[in-house]
Amino acid sequence: MKTIIEPFRIKSVEPIRFTTQNERKELLKKAHYNLFALKSDDVIIDLLTDSGTSAMSSAQWAAIMNGDESYAGSPSFDRFEASVRDLMDFKHIIPTHQGRAAEAILFSLIGGKGKHIPSNNHFDTTRGNIEATGAMAHDLVIDEGSDPKSLHPFKGNIDLDKLVAFLDKYGENVPCIMITITNNAGGGQPVSLENIHFCAKIARSYNVPFIIDACRFAENAWFIKQREAGQGDRSIKEIVRDMFKFADGMTMSAKKDAFANIGGWLALNDDELAQNAKTKLIQTEGFPTYGGLAGRDLDAIAQGLKEIIDEDYLRYRVRTNEYIIERLDALNIPVVKPAGGHAVFIDAKSWLSHIEPLQYPGQALAVALYELGGIRGCEIGTVMFGRAPDGSENQAAMELVRLAIPRRTYTQSHADYIVEVFEELAKIKDDLKGFKIIEEPPMMRHFSAKFATVI
Ligand SMILES: *Cc1c(COP(=O)(O)O)cnc(C)c1O
Repeated sequence: MKTIIEPFRIKSVEPIRFTTQNERKELLKKAHYNLFALKSDDVIIDLLTDSGTSAMSSAQWAAIMNGDESYAGSPSFDRFEASVRDLMDFKHIIPTHQGRAAEAILFSLIGGKGKHIPSNNHFDTTRGNIEATGAMAHDLVIDEGSDPKSLHPFKGNIDLDKLVAFLDKYGENVPCIMITITNNAGGGQPVSLENIHFCAKIARSYNVPFIIDACRFAENAWFIKQREAGQGDRSIKEIVRDMFKFADGMTMSAKKDAFANIGGWLALNDDELAQNAKTKLIQTEGFPTYGGLAGRDLDAIAQGLKEIIDEDYLRYRVRTNEYIIERLDALNIPVVKPAGGHAVFIDAKSWLSHIEPLQYPGQALAVALYELGGIRGCEIGTVMFGRAPDGSENQAAMELVRLAIPRRTYTQSHADYIVEVFEELAKIKDDLKGFKIIEEPPMMRHFSAKFATVI
């Protein structure tokens, strides 16, 4: 059969509350046009994030009942550790309450003033945690990665020439090399197995640890299987194990490719660094056998990791994005191609070319999608990345709107609705106005900035 169907039946449902366009106009005003300030009850289709919003399986809910809440030595930790190690064979696996807690612990130990940390593209919390220590975060993605029109199969790859030049320039001040798979901030684009292995090789030759930000490792492995020469006949598990084989550590958000509503971990091979991380963990998260989580959360993750590498799931997952992208493309709406793993990205700079980058075309588009259809997406552009640590404001490399697709949560008719909202928006998009920021915090401003329309 050609039709790729949702590979699950629905056992439990959550009603959606419908709002009218006029209601949403008022709600937007009250939220100062920041979609993070909306109540989720006021959102019809919530594509703000795919983080922690997955539908858990009946097996995961059953595993939750087996959670053991012992402070130390819980069997839930053993199940969690075994499940992680089955895919990523690191010596020390340290649970945290989210991915960013793993980042905060890692960079508090290896970051600091004068340090420089490269990645393909750092995710916003990763960048925030690096900069909070006084270190600098650098993005070295290949040029194709910043070109929404490029059809390169691995647009998340790091530019290896730039990486070598970077290491020669900053020398001892590079405490680690990172790579984000898939590359969230760069459009959810995958990194090839070859690129991951070359990174590890370069890291080894410069004697610098290689750390993978692995939030969407299963989606990345699926793309490797589909797109990389010689990988098509391997199982997802084999590819995943190969991806991590030469890495020295990883940070992970279990809210992504572990189907959990909360959780994460830091994994390391170095004994001394791991010991220091565990000490920090006890200070800030909890004892190393629960790390800021309930025992039941560890069991949900352990089960989720078994389900995420299922090929029927991954095929459906990526097809959902492709389907929306094909239909938007047919409407001449500029989308990032090829489809990424977890989200659909619209190129607002080119679609709303009448709005200047410093008047945030991505924000204008995200606000319009909510007003017209009750869809909540997220600007990934100058609002998110435009404020430099020195206080200056510069336009970001791309002005994207991300429609992140929660895992196993929405169906094809929801996808058809999303496309229809775009179809309507296309008729009025030339009248959309830009925004200015009237209030912002010193860091990670997109979460809480207040906006006003530019007249
Ligand atoms: C979500 C995410 C993080 C942070 O994880 P949280 O669990 O949200 O703290 C880090 N890196 C990437 C690439 C992510 O997508």
